[in-house]
Amino acid sequence: MSIRPVGRFPNHKETDMALKIHNTLTGIMEELIPGGVRKDSIAEYPPVTIYSCGPTVYGYAHIGNFRTFIFNDFLRRYLKFRGYRVDHAMNITDVEDKIIAGANKEGVSVKDYTERYTAIFMEDLRSLNIEPVEHMPRATESIDAMIDIIERLREKGFVYEKDGSLYFSITRYDKYGMLSRLDTREIKTGLRYDTDEYTKDDVRDFALWKAPKENEIYWDTPFGRGRPGWHIECSAMIRKIFGTTIDIHTGGVDLIFPHHENEIAQSEAAYGETFVRHWIHAEHLLVNGAKMSKSMGNYYTLRDLLEKGYSPRSIRYLLISAHYRKQFNFTLEGIGQADQALERIDNCIVRLNDIRTEGTQNPDVQKLSEAMLANFTAAVDDDLNISGGIGVFFEFIHAVNSLINEEKISLADIDIILDAMKKIDSVLGVIFFTGGAKTEIDTAWVDSMIAERITAKKNKKFARADEIRAMLTDKGIILEDTKDGTRWKMKS
Ligand code: AMP
Ligand code: ZN
Repeated sequence: MSIRPVGRFPNHKETDMALKIHNTLTGIMEELIPGGVRKDSIAEYPPVTIYSCGPTVYGYAHIGNFRTFIFNDFLRRYLKFRGYRVDHAMNITDVEDKIIAGANKEGVSVKDYTERYTAIFMEDLRSLNIEPVEHMPRATESIDAMIDIIERLREKGFVYEKDGSLYFSITRYDKYGMLSRLDTREIKTGLRYDTDEYTKDDVRDFALWKAPKENEIYWDTPFGRGRPGWHIECSAMIRKIFGTTIDIHTGGVDLIFPHHENEIAQSEAAYGETFVRHWIHAEHLLVNGAKMSKSMGNYYTLRDLLEKGYSPRSIRYLLISAHYRKQFNFTLEGIGQADQALERIDNCIVRLNDIRTEGTQNPDVQKLSEAMLANFTAAVDDDLNISGGIGVFFEFIHAVNSLINEEKISLADIDIILDAMKKIDSVLGVIFFTGGAKTEIDTAWVDSMIAERITAKKNKKFARADEIRAMLTDKGIILEDTKDGTRWKMKS
């Protein structure tokens, strides 16, 4: 991609430069209009309200799940980069069939069981440098909102009872199927489905409220004792946090049907207003052509990979780098390639930090940085095309390296380049990576060890010099001996 002249970024007002994202509901690319009313500039919009279906906490999330969670993180970061404010919720599903089964099997309470896996999930988010969102509701804290929806649906005649459970009757809701564009004639009506897991062939009335079974957690409600079905949980949390229509709802493509279809049906039938303006679905992470999933057993958890020595930084880079609407095949070699890409960025930064030449600012550096930010924005504005955006960024790295080779960069230019990199990293979160295990590196100590190593080498104490290098390597510090002396960097 060529480098074009720049507009005003990132808070520009040009109406021809709009962020467009594919909307699953309409099947077309649509401009994001937070609050539903077009404004003259991004700064005038209300915060973008976003809800992302979060994990069901019954075990370790796998990196397929994290592809979707990293996508959510990229979306919110890019919106902020573009000057939008965000108000983002991701739930924790903490009552569900598999959770109850898991807790019962271990003989612990549902609360203890889900708290354990929620803590692990939060730690994994931090490892992957996923930003905290504004709201992280637990389903079990929104039972009041579930009761409100179910009561309204009962008043309006969408609900029937069978064996103590309450079901939503999809034939009574004529817009059923609008998201997944299911031909309603194909739906087997009058059949009831009250487990939380579905396959495409099991399209039936879904349980809003489940009758209590022995050894199962329950709540007392105006319509009897029991526990919620999975779909009602997300509808209730959205209602409780945001009140009315939200701008964006995200999730993996497997959630389009029936989960999101059912969320729309129960929310819109209950409140008579649009539930969500923009539905965004992320494609799956595959392994040898099949969806990575717990049930297939073809999965890696984040911890599996960290134990094998892969860095969370490279895993984040790999998972963020593919376009969200394309399936992506996971391989361990892919992490190696991510390592190499990050190394190119790191080397460029090390070279910049090594520059000692005094001088005046080179106007080409400013132009190059602005053009890169403009082209990155143009690429990602087009349905969040991150691969295009990353391509633009690597052209920039290449151009900066060429300028360094030609000795056309002086100390006066470095901050301009680093600032541009920081802006890109506010979206990618991989360059100045702050996730991963927190090991505090004392830079003064590293410098003193390097000085001791140089003295050791001068005095021909090579064993000591090698020992120091090995000790630093163990701490993830890589030494590079150059003609200008020894420099160091953290391993990516
Ligand atoms: P779950 O905990 O099973 O409810 O899944 C949490 C999120 O991960 C949902 O948004 C799923 O759509 C998503 N997900 C599950 N498997 C994959 C996969 N192989 N690739 C990408 N996303 C996935
Ligand atoms: Zn959900």
